[in-house]
Amino acid sequence: MAKEIPTLCPYCGVGCGLLASTDGERILRIRGDPKHPANLGRVCPKGGTVAATVNVATRLRHAMLRDGFGKAPSVVPPGAAIRVAAEGIDRILQSHGPGAIAFYLSGQLTTEAQYIATKFAKAYLRTNHCDSNSRLCMASAGAGMKLSLGSDGPPTVYADIELADAFFFIGSNAAECHPVTFERIRKRIDKGARCVVADPRRTPTAESATVHLPIRPGTDLTLLNGLMRIIRDRGLLDARYIEQHTEGWEQLDAILDDYPLNVVAQRCGLEEADILSAAEIIAYTPKLITFWTMGINQSLQGTFASNAIINLHLATGRIGKPGAGPFSLTGQPNAMGGRDVGYMSHMLPGQRSVASEKDRADMEAVWGLKPGTIVSEVGHDAVRMFDAIDRGEIKALWVIGSNPAASMPNLPRIRSALEKCELVIVQDAYYPTETTKYAHVLLPAAVNLEQEGTYCNSERRVTLMEQVVPPPGDAKPDWWWVREIAVALGFRKGMQFESSEQIFDEFARSTAGRPNDQSGMHYKMLRELGPQLWPHPSMARANDRRYVDGIYPTATGKARLWARHDISPDEKPNADFPMLLTTGRVLNQWHTRTKTGQVEQLNALDPAPYLQIHPQDADELGLSTGDEVTISSRRGTARAPVLTDDTISPGVVFMPIHWNELWAQAASPNEATSDQTDPVSFQPALKCCAVKVAKVACR
Ligand code: SF4
Repeated sequence: MAKEIPTLCPYCGVGCGLLASTDGERILRIRGDPKHPANLGRVCPKGGTVAATVNVATRLRHAMLRDGFGKAPSVVPPGAAIRVAAEGIDRILQSHGPGAIAFYLSGQLTTEAQYIATKFAKAYLRTNHCDSNSRLCMASAGAGMKLSLGSDGPPTVYADIELADAFFFIGSNAAECHPVTFERIRKRIDKGARCVVADPRRTPTAESATVHLPIRPGTDLTLLNGLMRIIRDRGLLDARYIEQHTEGWEQLDAILDDYPLNVVAQRCGLEEADILSAAEIIAYTPKLITFWTMGINQSLQGTFASNAIINLHLATGRIGKPGAGPFSLTGQPNAMGGRDVGYMSHMLPGQRSVASEKDRADMEAVWGLKPGTIVSEVGHDAVRMFDAIDRGEIKALWVIGSNPAASMPNLPRIRSALEKCELVIVQDAYYPTETTKYAHVLLPAAVNLEQEGTYCNSERRVTLMEQVVPPPGDAKPDWWWVREIAVALGFRKGMQFESSEQIFDEFARSTAGRPNDQSGMHYKMLRELGPQLWPHPSMARANDRRYVDGIYPTATGKARLWARHDISPDEKPNADFPMLLTTGRVLNQWHTRTKTGQVEQLNALDPAPYLQIHPQDADELGLSTGDEVTISSRRGTARAPVLTDDTISPGVVFMPIHWNELWAQAASPNEATSDQTDPVSFQPALKCCAVKVAKVACR
């Protein structure tokens, strides 16, 4: 008889709960879980069709070994793949040391898989070159929140949406990228809430806006400082909140004089009147939520702009209150969980830092390690990790649940690195991807519907998903492969977990007393009570909205107002590269299409890549919709058919990120994008790339 099992959508950070009907072997139907607080039964087209991604021809069902780049891989038993992977790691460890080994993880893995891989890398192999695709996604927001508020993770919760009277989106196209959350927001807008959207494109989110600011790419910080100045000049600061709960106002106050309205308008390419209309909403609405995501994070000033967003809320006391606060929307379904377990090269579990002696000692105690085991040097971030591979310093790379040969910026450099790497282990549920062709060892992974584990979504809510069907062939949960290889290398004590539940219990304990405390959570409780928000310490009532008391987890208990000036990108348009390329997502595809590319309904809705260009620019270049063009930067050249469309600003072109090499040669904008990084978060500036566009062929 069919039964319904709770699971989770594997795509975006909204974190929608799903109910999957199964007869034990097959998935019969998927629907939104009406009891899940993130979606209350709603799903978008991606979540609704997730069953169609499971039993597909491109599933990786068996382990494979390849004897060098360009050769065909052979199917082998799991034990043979584990042996080859372990022997390869051991050989490199013995001859070149731990610094020659790197991990590249994913915000789509379960918390348990992220935790065990992080522990294996940092505690046992003793390499901090363990980074993740969160470096492309949420690194700037995470760094910004930690610097401003003392802790990563948003202060707000989804339930604040229904309480808010205004929304400010900057660098977020939530209507397409977080559609179920945006549906809730749209309902508020329909009931009278006002909305400002700053985006170079008139996106579906901007279509719902009271005021749309078609901002020039890379100038968000100027706009934010300009808005802060208007708030100050109109006497709208909350002096009491600034005095009692923040520090740094004097420095912020001092820089605001550099941001008069005319300068801001000119730099951002906006009309002064439009900025004033936006300010009327942003400055005067007590219940305001500011949403941001990739448009801010993927820039040279991602961390500083995140600080500036938080400044707007701190300086007006609109934080920790119903319907008010800054809200960073997470790209991937478990990027928050990954940051909680410390799966980036500067982090340790519980929002600890590898650079802190105390934090290392804490984790050495939790992990039962000798003092001094964890290396104090911060590992390479994703961009520098591939640079180090390219230089031959890193010789082994283990990629779990990600496709860097399509998603990283400056792909010619990434391909060069992967070709040179002595040992590439790729663990994935799908084959081929753009990355699998570089793998010497391929390990088949289970997808969400085939395993038990937890995810933590954009609002810090942890959900337990149950296994719905068994994985195919030799596919196993990601944590299982990590355990097996660790044990094959002789790391039995501390790595021999018997279940994902055991891993979660250890992770949860490691967060005790930390800002992201989850020590009160366990599988039984999550099963009985449903998804829970952190902080959730043992023996205490769970909190929901954070910083209600105005006390922050910093040395002084106060939040920090940061005075941040613009960082001007090296990547400026000039006579050779006169246009700015920005990249993004479409509603019905996900990341590099390894999953959504298998779904007929989604491909029918968003079928192919394109380069969006304003009709005025298209006329100057003699282009019409459907013409094939090259998009060349200082690094490489992408190709796409043209879509002329006046929803984009003149001088700016847009290309979605989803279509890559497996679709067509040079179909990815990342052939051209910049790998210059934010100086604090080391997140690449994927949204701002100077290019020239040239016609290749007519429609
Ligand atoms: Fe999945 Fe995001 Fe769609 Fe929800 S909104 S169903 S989490 S893709």
